[in-house]
Amino acid sequence: MAIIRVNEPSREKLSAITPEDVEAEGFPGMTPTQFIRMFCDSHESCRPSTIITRIPYAYVPGGRFTLPGFCRFCGDRAAATSTKCSKCEFVDQFSESLKHD
Ligand SMILES: [Zn+2]
Repeated sequence: MAIIRVNEPSREKLSAITPEDVEAEGFPGMTPTQFIRMFCDSHESCRPSTIITRIPYAYVPGGRFTLPGFCRFCGDRAAATSTKCSKCEFVDQFSESLKHD
């Protein structure tokens, strides 16, 4: 979990994501196509044409902390002894597998 400052949200199709957006999402070196594929694989019922809410945010310096049972990347529920949820685990494995393409 972390303290973040949230900026103006916007709604757009997932397929409209730009290389700059992908980098801002924390995946430098991933192409928009790869990002869309990963996102759809890890979010059930999501397609490239799905309208998603984009919430630009910045971490507040010093506001980041971890708590067992909560994902330190997305804040979702994680296993009681873990600080990473299965979705973020999946995303990690996916980015790792891209490096070996
Ligand atoms: Zn997570």
